[in-house]
Amino acid sequence: MDLELRDKVVVVTGASRGIGRAIAETLATEGVRLVLAARTREQLEEVAKACGTETQIVVTDLREPDAPQKLIEGAVLRFGRIDTLVNNAGATKRGNFLELSEAEWQDGFALKFFGAMRCCRAAWVHLKSSHGSIVNIIGVGGRTGSAEFAIGGSVNSALLNLTKVLADQGTKDSIRVNAINPGSIATERLKIRIKAFASERGLDINQAAKSMAQKLGVARFGEPVEIARVVAFLASPAASYCHGSIIDVDGGETRTL
Ligand code: NAD
Repeated sequence: MDLELRDKVVVVTGASRGIGRAIAETLATEGVRLVLAARTREQLEEVAKACGTETQIVVTDLREPDAPQKLIEGAVLRFGRIDTLVNNAGATKRGNFLELSEAEWQDGFALKFFGAMRCCRAAWVHLKSSHGSIVNIIGVGGRTGSAEFAIGGSVNSALLNLTKVLADQGTKDSIRVNAINPGSIATERLKIRIKAFASERGLDINQAAKSMAQKLGVARFGEPVEIARVVAFLASPAASYCHGSIIDVDGGETRTL
């Protein structure tokens, strides 16, 4: 199926590895021109090379208040337009509510919530003129609270609400705004969780992965490309009536409506 994305300009944050990298590579196969943002130049260069499409890389710390504006201005300077913004960068510290520090809370919101909100604000005028779209990569923890995921869950809930807020505004401004909630996806972040799970329970890595999946009620963990394909769909005209949609891509982990 041709998703009609050829030559579109898409900004992907957190594109140096994991889900963001898979999004970049999947969009590249559709002929998209990419602006890839993350903190590490070396990894971004590797991703750009793997994409093989016209790509701008931006080394930036999106927790800094002026970083999103610079990212968007640079993208428009290079390509003259933005068709889709994918807010994917996020790194919230896991841990129990009673153990998390003030600084860790600030840090979690600074990147995943404020970074995304500021990218949306900076890109809005450009997306309005291209009749473009936003895809927020959020997380099932925003729907289902858990003591061990206090910051991530709270940040994700805030971003889910912002998705609806922006969709409401987007109806007036011709910008489609949607979100994806990944479940447990096999990236570095998940491997670290599996390692910790294994050492807490004296299991080997394979046993720990199996037991974690069972505990979550899923048959297996997801692959980054399984999120990326949904991003490509949401960014495309094939999803023209998806607006304010929040899609759980979680292997059935979320059972509530
Ligand atoms: P990851 O840690 O593998 O990659 C995170 C990306 O964000 C990297 O490119 C990193 O460079 C970038 N980044 C981190 N801090 C940054 C900063 N300050 N400024 C700019 N870029 C920064 O993460 P992932 O597992 O691929 O997750 C991607 C997104 O999906 C995150 O928002 C995460 O919360 C969400 N998510 C992931 C899972 C999962 O199971 N992997 C589940 C639910 C939600």
